[in-house]
Amino acid sequence: MNIVETNLSFGAMTVRSRTNRIICHHAAAKTCGAATIHSWHKANGWAGIGYHYVVRKNGTIERGRPEKYVGAHATGSNSDSIGVCFEGNFDQESMGAAQKNAGIELISWLKSKYGIGTVVGHRDVMATSCPGKYFPMADIVNGKVSSTDPDGDVTSGGTTQVQKDQGGAITYQVHARKIGWMNWRCDGDMAGTTGQNRRIEAIRIQPDGRMDVSVHIKTDGDKKYSNINADTLIGTTGKSKRLEALMIEGDKQFRYRVHQKTYGWSAWTSNGKWAGVKGKSKQIEAIQIKEPIILVRAHVQSVGWTEYVGDDEVIGTTGKAKRLEAIQIDPLGMEIKAKAHIQGDGWVDYGVIDKDTVIGTTGESKRLECLCLEGDFEWRAHLAESGWTDWTEADGVATLGTVGQALQMEAIQIRRK
Ligand SMILES: [Zn+2]
Repeated sequence: MNIVETNLSFGAMTVRSRTNRIICHHAAAKTCGAATIHSWHKANGWAGIGYHYVVRKNGTIERGRPEKYVGAHATGSNSDSIGVCFEGNFDQESMGAAQKNAGIELISWLKSKYGIGTVVGHRDVMATSCPGKYFPMADIVNGKVSSTDPDGDVTSGGTTQVQKDQGGAITYQVHARKIGWMNWRCDGDMAGTTGQNRRIEAIRIQPDGRMDVSVHIKTDGDKKYSNINADTLIGTTGKSKRLEALMIEGDKQFRYRVHQKTYGWSAWTSNGKWAGVKGKSKQIEAIQIKEPIILVRAHVQSVGWTEYVGDDEVIGTTGKAKRLEAIQIDPLGMEIKAKAHIQGDGWVDYGVIDKDTVIGTTGESKRLECLCLEGDFEWRAHLAESGWTDWTEADGVATLGTVGQALQMEAIQIRRK
């Protein structure tokens, strides 16, 4: 809460010895502030403005008479009360959210400061219509704030990222509502919060190679930042504009996803694809970015080729009794060798593979039965009947799957050693 000092000059006043209640007024004028009321009350021959605070329509709170002095706002009730005046005429108009929220904030602060609970209208202590028939007395008394932010209020609970700077292959930070820049996180760690209704307004990334980063910004739409560096402000700050989606392109391959209001975590996605839903007024609240060691896709019975996924992600399906017919690995510079045992064909040795190598078959309805991989990673396989195998080093010797039992592989998973 911000109280604007008005530095008005007063005549002689008396210090108030008791404070038992707060009395609300309206100015009975559509537009006026503390200085104007001060001149009116001076003209009455008073020491100066009789109210202690004036709450403006724009949500500004102006100081009137210094709080410790007896006010001049409700005859017979001034000696034990604080007078708060609201700009406007609430016999003729209703109160906007900015003014109402400021009033609630001020009055709940005064209540706790003095340990009092009595908040009344001028009309409750005198024969007057003040503060007007449309004055939102119940909301002001109960402290019910209605949000002025289109994204709603920030709430407590949820999860918050690790609050410590960390750097890795890909390092990033987010600018979150009512927090500002959060700590740097890296390599798939969550940056931001979830479940707090706290929008991300900007991102900074320490690039790995050339990176172009696009975001969808509230009211601005898609914006692309080319060849970023660690200082590039991706988004805006101080404008209360949420980000709604993220896309990365670059020399390296990246996997990334966003946590979005209402929708939760998006699917992990790869270079050149948007993560997040644009144009639905839903803010991004957290992001994760990582560099995969490989990209791999699966050819699945009755599905065909899946999207490429990275390490740690499941390649194929589980629990659907669908055979894996082929896999295709983009080794991203790693040397990988592969052998596969294919239904009806037996063992096929692919040697050192590249991103075009199809390990298995497509269009022949043949199951992959057993695989042998060699590379700098661990892997496991999901088999019909027995489920996931143990994690196994890809040493070019160990085989996962079965031979001669007519059992299909359904999925595999690869991870860093
Ligand atoms: Zn009044």
